Amino acid sequence: MDVIEESGNKIVVKLKGIPIQYANALRRICLSGVPTFAIDDVVIIENSSVLADEGVAHRLAMTPLRTDLSRFVEPSACDCHSELGCSKCRVLLMLDSGVSDTTRTVTSSDLSSEDEVVKPVSSNIPIIVLAPGQKLKVEAYARLGRGNEHAKWNSSTVAVLTQTNNPEEHILTVETVGNLTPSEVIRAAIDELEKRLGEFQQTMATLG
Ligand SMILES: [Zn+2]
Repeated sequence: MDVIEESGNKIVVKLKGIPIQYANALRRICLSGVPTFAIDDVVIIENSSVLADEGVAHRLAMTPLRTDLSRFVEPSACDCHSELGCSKCRVLLMLDSGVSDTTRTVTSSDLSSEDEVVKPVSSNIPIIVLAPGQKLKVEAYARLGRGNEHAKWNSSTVAVLTQTNNPEEHILTVETVGNLTPSEVIRAAIDELEKRLGEFQQTMATLG
């Protein structure tokens, strides 16, 4: 695999000597098969805004969070076996707008995370507009999930495969919103593909 281009949230790599089916499986895993963090459970403590609680929860769920795959596991794979989760499978983010006497926009910068890495990828994502006297206070729980369960966990925004003149070579372009870097996505996707192929081989072996 050769890196042709890498800049910010985009990477272009050349895959050599890989059958098209594997290249395509890798592309699909890059898109929605690598775990990322997203807010999944929101406890509304106070909401006097015009947006309903479900609207607030949706806005928070769609806020991309920087993801660290080295310290966290998906809840289904965590040994806490707890619905509430633990420090290895969930991160708490708090938002308390306070009350202002002017109209203001609450943004992702108002979300404070208990983790120093898992936090919004950008500080200026608008969440809600509050009129004077209105207040929003929530606890939001983020966890790892995959885009094939819900789009909020998509690991990339773009994952495209293009042909070259050489049938043995394919060009893979991956773009992310910054929850993971594109090279982190590709590395995790290769691990995931190897794991799936291993499991498939085992299944075939037991079938004899
Ligand atoms: Zn846990």
